[in-house]
Amino acid sequence: MSHPQRAAAFTSDAERTTWHDETLWFVRQKRDKAAYGVPEFQQLRQLASDIKEHTLSRLDEYLEQFERNARANGVQVHWAADADEHNRIVLSIIKAAGASSIVKSKSMLTEECHLNPYLQQHGIAVVDTDLGERIVQLREEAPSHLVLPAIHLKKEDVGETFHQHLGTPKGEKDPQNLTEAARLHLREKFLIGQVAISGVNFAVAETGAVVVCTNEGNADLGVNLAQVHIACMGMEKLIPRTADLGVFTRLLARSATGQPVTTYTSHFSQPAPGRQMHIVIVDNGRTRQLGRPDFRNSLKCIRCGACMNTCPVYRRSGGHSYNFTVPGPIGAILSPNIDLHKHSTLPFASTLCGSCTDVCPVKIDIHNQLYKWRQLIAQSNALPLGKKLGMKLLSWGLARPGLYRLGGKVAREGLRLLPRGLSHAAALNPWAKARELPEPPAQSFREWYQQTVTQ
Ligand code: SF4
Repeated sequence: MSHPQRAAAFTSDAERTTWHDETLWFVRQKRDKAAYGVPEFQQLRQLASDIKEHTLSRLDEYLEQFERNARANGVQVHWAADADEHNRIVLSIIKAAGASSIVKSKSMLTEECHLNPYLQQHGIAVVDTDLGERIVQLREEAPSHLVLPAIHLKKEDVGETFHQHLGTPKGEKDPQNLTEAARLHLREKFLIGQVAISGVNFAVAETGAVVVCTNEGNADLGVNLAQVHIACMGMEKLIPRTADLGVFTRLLARSATGQPVTTYTSHFSQPAPGRQMHIVIVDNGRTRQLGRPDFRNSLKCIRCGACMNTCPVYRRSGGHSYNFTVPGPIGAILSPNIDLHKHSTLPFASTLCGSCTDVCPVKIDIHNQLYKWRQLIAQSNALPLGKKLGMKLLSWGLARPGLYRLGGKVAREGLRLLPRGLSHAAALNPWAKARELPEPPAQSFREWYQQTVTQ
């Protein structure tokens, strides 16, 4: 299904759509307050963008430096060219540890690689320990947001899910009680998890350490209780020095949720005595994106989700309508790099208003890249047939002024005379499906201009 089709399914529930829209706008407003509270916020954005620019320009050197330092710390480093290789490496580490159950903190990379179903197919029990992730895992859904994976659900939905899976009383919807139930359920899983998988927010080249930011402390609990820690990271997560880290941690939480800093910012640099630590560095299309001059700076993304919270299309169409691990404006830039034809409708899921670019803490020119993808998609013959023919017809008509004037006249009269059932018929006029058409003016601009200005 295309983005418009999935979005139509979401917007068919008008009340939920409005609630989703308002909830995310509330988060956006919190972000604004937090950003305005830091006088040097714009300088920080520029600095973060510059640090990432520099790192991407020497990514090969920084990756090798990171690997050398991590190995010197006693960490086992693995390289994965794609999702399959990543999954095979993780499974082999789990098998070598003799483990059959693992706990996992939030990691969009493992979502991208579809690690959970892969491990489950191989007999490994996987428990996501981030509360939002656990909720969507129990419902067998994908996260719908980078930072707020269950933001598409109301407390009543969560209450029903917990009633079915955790045995909470039917109709329980008090967030405090539901959180307590999740805490009890997860605590038990932490205690039996033999291997802990975490994501990586930042990887520091000069020390070989990885930094993981969570609000729930679940990554810390998982890693400290398990014998083996596997940190899975995309190769773009690098920053050169520990001194650079503060720039990003000051931006990340403020941009994501409006907090001054995430509750836990944990540094993992070496395994505890007698234990193992592995880092899996994954490419999975990132090198290809790095080689595209128009799109390479999308690799600066620190996955704060701010572009989603502000996007009028994301807020009203929900994360699942994107059908890609990373939804929203940044997902619409990253997804065509993976499969241009499959995700060809995503760069069109934008008003190009530029609000995403305005809030991005690392200054990615998101709306410009969306516009560039649209051109490439059109050149690659990946537009739906109706749109392709429509655009051809429009360009033919616009190149003929007489025909254009006649078309305007016919449209003005048609809108006035046609019954609504025809002028708003979805098959003939998809634009009017969810919008009112404007009142047709009595005359064209050209006629008005000739009468009013030139006489
Ligand atoms: S593109 Fe920018 S705003 Fe969007 S998630 Fe990435 S860093 Fe945040």
